Amino acid sequence: MIVTIDGPSGAGKGSAAKALAKRLGFSYVDTGAIYRALSYLSLREGVDPREEKEVIALLDHFDFRTEIQGGKRHYYLDQEEITAVIRTPAVTERVSAVSAIEEVRTRLLPLQRKEAELGNVVFEGRDMGTTLFPHADVKIFLTASPEVRAHRRYLELAPKHPHLTEASVLADQLRRDEWDSTRSASPLRAAEDAIYLDTSALTLEEVVDRLVEIVRGKHG
Ligand code: C5P
Repeated sequence: MIVTIDGPSGAGKGSAAKALAKRLGFSYVDTGAIYRALSYLSLREGVDPREEKEVIALLDHFDFRTEIQGGKRHYYLDQEEITAVIRTPAVTERVSAVSAIEEVRTRLLPLQRKEAELGNVVFEGRDMGTTLFPHADVKIFLTASPEVRAHRRYLELAPKHPHLTEASVLADQLRRDEWDSTRSASPLRAAEDAIYLDTSALTLEEVVDRLVEIVRGKHG
């Protein structure tokens, strides 16, 4: 069974998808980590994310792996652990430019689809229900107001990045949403058969309860 969760940044997809997978006993796949890994590689190799050909060339040596250690997912590029670095503002800042390149998206599709071999999976991203798994069993689109989304992201980032302000996080998020929603290749949008859930006024626990109800309601 495939459950897809799409939505803009800060809607709470990551925490909700992870918790939902745990409650259902499913695997969880964060597809944003793959685009973040390529974004990090472009930074490490000094490749301008607007130079499409150069970014695409990076895929020839893109050895992205994930491993579960002590119940936590760790990400690697070759032998380098990149779990923490892919969440840094420098990587986040350029990820939308990297992920907007059509050939990048098509070449990264098989890597993502392969994860469906895990069996029952919750997939989280931007185009899970539209492009990756148009025939998914359950499709969810999570949203929240821009202010709520920025506030959540700020609380997450502030301990490690004290120079950030809530206003700068909001500005960065709006810029990224704009990029992700207006790109021509698989833009961020809800699938026609997706179920919307606005998480602005809900706690994580309430969101997960609601998601479990939706999944069980569809496939009791
Ligand atoms: O979800 P997360 O914030 O980690 O995603 C980082 C970026 O990766 C998004 O802003 C988007 O540009 C890209 N992405 C995407 N398609 C996905 C998942 C993420 O384009 N399925």
